[in-house]
Amino acid sequence: MAVSYKPQLNYTDFKDLTEQIHFHSSEGKIWFGEQRMLLMNLTSLAAFRREIVNSMGIERAKGFFLRLGYLSGLKDAELARKLRPHCSELDIFLAGPQLHSLKGMVKVVPLEIDLDQEAGDFYGRLEWIDSWEVEICKTELGQMKEPACWVLLGYACAYTSSFMGREIIFREVSCRGCGDETCIIEGKPAEEWPDAEEFSRYFKADPMIEELYDLQEQLNSLRSTLQRQQGQYYGIGQSASYNKVCKMIDKAAQGKVSVLLLGETGVGKEVIAKSVHLRSERSDDPFIAVNCAAIPPDLIEAELFGVEKGAYTGANQSREGRFERADGGTIFLDEVIELTPRAQATLLRVLQESELERVGDNRTRKVNVRVIAATNESLEQAVEDGRFRADLFYRLNVFPVHIPPLRDRQEDLPLLASHFLEKFHAQYDKRTLGLSDKALELCMQYRWPGNIRELENVIERGVILTDNNETISQDALFVTPPHVNPDSVEHIDNDGNMRAGEPGDSGRSWSDQVIKQGISLDQVEETLMKQAMEQANQNVSKAARLLGLTRPALAYRLKKSGILAED
Ligand SMILES: [Zn+2]
Repeated sequence: MAVSYKPQLNYTDFKDLTEQIHFHSSEGKIWFGEQRMLLMNLTSLAAFRREIVNSMGIERAKGFFLRLGYLSGLKDAELARKLRPHCSELDIFLAGPQLHSLKGMVKVVPLEIDLDQEAGDFYGRLEWIDSWEVEICKTELGQMKEPACWVLLGYACAYTSSFMGREIIFREVSCRGCGDETCIIEGKPAEEWPDAEEFSRYFKADPMIEELYDLQEQLNSLRSTLQRQQGQYYGIGQSASYNKVCKMIDKAAQGKVSVLLLGETGVGKEVIAKSVHLRSERSDDPFIAVNCAAIPPDLIEAELFGVEKGAYTGANQSREGRFERADGGTIFLDEVIELTPRAQATLLRVLQESELERVGDNRTRKVNVRVIAATNESLEQAVEDGRFRADLFYRLNVFPVHIPPLRDRQEDLPLLASHFLEKFHAQYDKRTLGLSDKALELCMQYRWPGNIRELENVIERGVILTDNNETISQDALFVTPPHVNPDSVEHIDNDGNMRAGEPGDSGRSWSDQVIKQGISLDQVEETLMKQAMEQANQNVSKAARLLGLTRPALAYRLKKSGILAED
């Protein structure tokens, strides 16, 4: 039987519902039927809602609050059936709007209700007056662009769906929360709404955590793509001298010619070599890097060109060399000057004929490998000295690229430093506040004989020694503060720093050698002082500056070790 609602006088009489409320203050509980209730102030709920909106965005927040109302509506539909077993369908249904009013959520005025439980027909149009959600819009969120009575709407949908035994959807056709004059809701079976499916999605919980994991994965993959691209773009730098190198690399990459990378140790030759490879047509094929100085001379041929079983003692099985592995791609031969004469001869053959024979083998194998060679010594000098084949030198020197030392591209230092900071933060799972101004200034003045590799070592040390959320001080970077006196930089050359040894020897390998050779600290000190005195033409003040000491401090030590006679 269809019942249509006509405003009745007794609509506001819901004593049977009011009687269900029991305050058991001594137990700390409020009961509504069998549901435990809370008395909460509106302002804290308003603040909570604002926080949810701000952190999840409006669409997610809307779903969140719709579902909050939905659960409450389901509970109340159950209660209504229990409390009014013998009443008319309409009277039972009206318990929902009445409960809404009773709970202080909103005053509900039914405008039109047609329902028939048996046939499953439902149409409802109701007005909401003084919605709590409109009120908090005024205080917390400001006027919304869309209807704002989310919890109330979720409640209406759930209550009516449960009551009717089929999915009924209510929509707010106008809302004071978005500037309309009244809040009016309209409800009908889901099938009668064109966008029911879309709307129903709000009622499905969608845990954000999955999405966050997805995003994190995407971020990781973007990061590695970016790193690959950075590789294609020669590493890091924006100085004029570095840009010039990049332009050279662009030209070199396109062709097939061998490239010879020249520059001090630690300037990033391997990064550049890799850039040449990545920017060439060979980028999908292997890039093999070999440091010729790191392989014992008697093994270098086998290592590079492969070996046949039984070629020499220890060659228990045949294996391919680095050239065969790099077939189709690029091989990077760092410190190529270290190649033995026999290896030089084979390399020349690879370059001229694109073929090689493994050590102890008669078979000729074809290889298609682009060679990028690098050296930090003068190959011309090595040719003159008879250490390097002239014909091989000409072959390798087709496209020489000079990579500037770090001190000649000082403006790139902050970029490089922050790149390494990020790298070591990730590696050591730490987050420092970066270099102190003083530390950065020191870095800018230091001459970096070990170039970028030395900078990398220094930054790593700084990150290790500095706690989270603290600034990396100069003491954390340098064991002994490097000597940086602009007046004397001109003539102290690479050795004007506290670091001893050849350019590029990082502090660590130098100290390693000292320890390995059993040299005492006193001996080290004496050697350093003698060296400084020699460079300073026996001028104690100058030598003291070289060593980062005051004149009296050096004079005292010189006398103590007998280098300088007592006055
Ligand atoms: Zn509203």
